[in-house]
Amino acid sequence: MGKSFDIGLERLTGIGVPGIGETQEGGVKPPLQDTSADLKIGHYVDASATKGGQAGMVVPQESTFYLETFGCQMNDHDSEKVAGVLLARGYRQVDGPEAAKVILYNTCSIREKAAQKVFSRLGELRPADDQEGKSFNTEDTEKEHRVHRDGRVLEKNHPSLRKIVNAGGGKIIGVLGCVAQQEGEEIFERAPWVSLVCGSASYRKLPQLIAELEAGNRRVTGLDTDTDETFETEITRRDNPWRAYLTIIEGCDKACSYCVVPFTRGPERSRGSASILEEVRRLAEAGYSEVQLLGQTVNSYADPSARKMRFSELLAAVAEVRGIRRVRFTTSHPRDFGEDIVEAIEAHPTICDHVHLPVQSGSTAVLRAMARTYSREEYLEKIALMKAARRPISITTDMIVGFPGETEKDFEETLTLLDEVQYDSVFAFKYSPRPNTPSLKMPDAIPEEEKGRRLGILMDRQREIQRVRNEKLVGETFEVLVDGKSRRENQWSGHTSSNRVMNFASPERELLGDYVQVKVVSAMPNSLVGEMVGRM
Ligand code: SAM
Ligand code: SF4
Repeated sequence: MGKSFDIGLERLTGIGVPGIGETQEGGVKPPLQDTSADLKIGHYVDASATKGGQAGMVVPQESTFYLETFGCQMNDHDSEKVAGVLLARGYRQVDGPEAAKVILYNTCSIREKAAQKVFSRLGELRPADDQEGKSFNTEDTEKEHRVHRDGRVLEKNHPSLRKIVNAGGGKIIGVLGCVAQQEGEEIFERAPWVSLVCGSASYRKLPQLIAELEAGNRRVTGLDTDTDETFETEITRRDNPWRAYLTIIEGCDKACSYCVVPFTRGPERSRGSASILEEVRRLAEAGYSEVQLLGQTVNSYADPSARKMRFSELLAAVAEVRGIRRVRFTTSHPRDFGEDIVEAIEAHPTICDHVHLPVQSGSTAVLRAMARTYSREEYLEKIALMKAARRPISITTDMIVGFPGETEKDFEETLTLLDEVQYDSVFAFKYSPRPNTPSLKMPDAIPEEEKGRRLGILMDRQREIQRVRNEKLVGETFEVLVDGKSRRENQWSGHTSSNRVMNFASPERELLGDYVQVKVVSAMPNSLVGEMVGRM
């Protein structure tokens, strides 16, 4: 997909440092553990399934599945739950589509390029004898550039799967997530070889849909969005052995004029506080020390139980669960961000000193057109609450450039907001017109080239802010949860409470999953370099 500037800025969150990609890609796999209600795994895959057969003729085993995820942390976590549903039915996960009986894509449609990607994948799976499917653009699929949520760019060759479908035959191919919800049954028209289409608001139905496919149904769908249920599973197959994700609120009731999420994820619905706390206790007993509470607007949490816990009370209660050392939460909406959340962070060192508070634009006029429900000044009041906290809080954000009608002056206001707030990281995106959204009909579209120019300027400005901010940390010591080991000897990486990436040297033999003290010796815009000075 050409060079994408949004990806460029996502990179700002942690790559560019030699060793980071190797560190976490470097073959260090967490242990396989079965905690019955919760599976912690690094590679819950059947390696033999991918090896079997002659070259190019991998025969899929019954009851195996391959699941590929696109998009945000919520999608990653949904996939963990989908995998849990399949594992509970006796399926095994394999690490490539060749050996899988069931191939699932959990998709993202937040920006056009993300949505296109899944149609590229489906194009690869098209059977040679298919006459019905519409044409697909499969360019870019041979080499995929994926930006990991930690900022690493993963690059992998994707073999054409045509042969695989023809050789293996009888595969069940499913599209899940936002593209499924957005395109619905149209996907069957475009790719008749797909048999399952299910949006995230209908995931409760997944076990039933899978049972129908197993019973021989050719096509099944889950596309309702009028639900008040959340997707909870008996088994969640977790990818990260230290950090556990937990969705506490699903869907979104905000109606930002550019965003597909309210259409694809359905209305806001929160999970009961008792059930959340029970899961956190189980996670702690299973050895997880960090939990991250998830929601598109996590701080709009509204406890449906009689307890009626506020979000800040829930944060505090999670922070007090024995064995939990770090509590993160994302994403917060500025409208529902109040002093009580800052007070909870101040009162509980276990709650991480990091808040991701997407602003989208520094111009009140653009914010109004985006229907963000706050002005620049009101947003800055929320920032002031955090800056006044006794404990320093790291602030990060999302921004969109080139929204229809964004003038040079509006854009300049976004730049001055960067200077004023001094974010520790920014995810910046070029505005992407999305189906059904009100902004689609707005006049004064900004040309792609101009969007790219603005994004480049924003990135440069923010990179410099991060360089200066990080340099001020040289000499300070931070607690780091070690989550990566480099192929290079004695090199490790991890995250501070403020979610900064720390690369450091230590001759210790095993540190993964440990909390250690690291002193910063040098700094870059996207990461810190340190040396270990002690254990916690
Ligand atoms: N709910 C969160 C909030 O309100 O800030 C954000 C969720 S959204 C999955 C993540 C980010 O994608 C948004 O903050 C926004 O910056 C970006 N985004 C959403 N729709 C977009 C669009 N149509 N074009 C470009 N970026 C978009
Ligand atoms: Fe999209 Fe706005 Fe909801 Fe965030 S708050 S998910 S940007 S509609």
